[in-house]
Amino acid sequence: QFPFGRRLPCDIYWHGVSFHDSNIFSGQVNKFPGMTETVRKITLSRAMRTMRDLFPLEYNFYPRSWILPEELPLFVAEVRTMKDSNPSWKPTFIVKPDGGCQGDGIYLIKDPSDIRLTGSIQSRPAVVQEYICKPLLVDKLKFDIRLYVLLKSLEPLEIYIAKDGLSRFCTEPYQEPTLKNLHQVFMHLTNYSLNIHSGNFIHSASANTGSKRTFSSILCRLSSRGADVKKLWSDIISLVIKTIIALTPELKVYYQSDIPAGKPGPTCFQILGFDILLMKDLKPVLLEVNANPSMRIEHEQELSPGVFENVPSPVDEKVKVAVIRDTLRLMDPQKKKRKDTQLTLSVLCCRCQSPERAPGASEEPPDAAPGPEAALPSLCLKQVFPKYARHFSYLRLVDRVAALFIRFLGVKGTTKLGPTGFRTFIRNCKLSNSNFSMAAVDILYIDITRRWNSMGIEHKESGMCLQAFVEAFFCLAQKKYKALPLHKQVLSLLELCECRLAALHGKRLVWGCG
Ligand code: ADP
Repeated sequence: QFPFGRRLPCDIYWHGVSFHDSNIFSGQVNKFPGMTETVRKITLSRAMRTMRDLFPLEYNFYPRSWILPEELPLFVAEVRTMKDSNPSWKPTFIVKPDGGCQGDGIYLIKDPSDIRLTGSIQSRPAVVQEYICKPLLVDKLKFDIRLYVLLKSLEPLEIYIAKDGLSRFCTEPYQEPTLKNLHQVFMHLTNYSLNIHSGNFIHSASANTGSKRTFSSILCRLSSRGADVKKLWSDIISLVIKTIIALTPELKVYYQSDIPAGKPGPTCFQILGFDILLMKDLKPVLLEVNANPSMRIEHEQELSPGVFENVPSPVDEKVKVAVIRDTLRLMDPQKKKRKDTQLTLSVLCCRCQSPERAPGASEEPPDAAPGPEAALPSLCLKQVFPKYARHFSYLRLVDRVAALFIRFLGVKGTTKLGPTGFRTFIRNCKLSNSNFSMAAVDILYIDITRRWNSMGIEHKESGMCLQAFVEAFFCLAQKKYKALPLHKQVLSLLELCECRLAALHGKRLVWGCG
């Protein structure tokens, strides 16, 4: 720990809460700039909605959500329409304050009119979401899953998922929501921090009993009941990859602002906590992503009234120690050095024209002493991206829109596009014509930017944020390619812009040579 700063550069920096040190010029940091902001409830809901607009079927694992207060009229109108078209639909909604955690400020409602429109909703925006009424129960209790995911690199995208996670149980038997039980948090909310205060909370040293268990113990149980556990895992992997694909555009904007390309800086990685609920039919639903998941391996126990002690929690220890150990193994700078040395060796062998040595050079020499890794258990973190990239790459459209946005940001260090940057984008991509004048371009910029800035949580910088640019881009795509579905409209416009920019770049190179 360096409470007063540090003098020497390090291989790996482990920041407590978020990326915060601008004086790091090499090595690796365990947080990405902007991750905390990117996974906040409102930002996550917006990113998921953008992806759902493009790919409705692929992104139906996130409950339908509305942002309060700005979308309250939309929420009321949509619920009314759905109720009118299906009078037997008796929905429940969950209201969650933005930036809240541990169940703080959360409540359930049966009707949009039950939203507590006190001063707090204005000062503390929230997300209202469809409540999953039929979760999978074990021992008659609702539970959720905390899975650990390592985002090893943003560019190129590398994602690992831990083979085991935690299952956190409610402490009152579950009943579908009614007006009478809506307030019973121990029945509806699975947060450990809430349920620990229930008299029914069971601390257990065993992984398959008690109020906190390993996810693998639940899978064993489901498998013995005949459930298709392989399919469940593959659905979870696809949920994680799709969620990260939804988050990467925003993360890239923060990254280039904090760690500009071409200047010395660290690389980043981050352990994320994914909170997932299983529905009765075993479909996984994403509840939220935690940028700073608790890595505690002990819990507080009340020994006698008012006397607390920290005692080890074997379930937490089993899951979390493996995640941290494997993260360090994967990020190990020595490993990279060893790999580089082997590569150099192999290149040298090739240059010496001794083909019989070359293939062996990438393997451990037979007589070499086993490295320190040989004594460690096998990896619990499994790579899922790029391993399954070919199934998901078509979803990375907003990533390409973000690349355009970043290209026109101009001065490094900003996250918002000015009016000149937007005009240059339109001009360089040749998107303006007799039907869409530069005056109309300015109006589009002003309209969208003003609306996004009026609902922004922080107003540090003026200009167009990524989400506003994405909206403008979708708007241009819809205008240009009217008959196509949205994802095809966006793809067509992207290809056009990329092609025109490549041509322009080629021309500039030629002029440069001339
Ligand atoms: P927090 O960050 O405050 O923990 P969450 O989004 O994780 O907020 O919600 C808290 C708990 O509420 C979850 O652990 C889960 O048990 C329950 N919950 C949240 N959203 C839903 C939902 N859409 N349907 C059913 N239960 C939910």
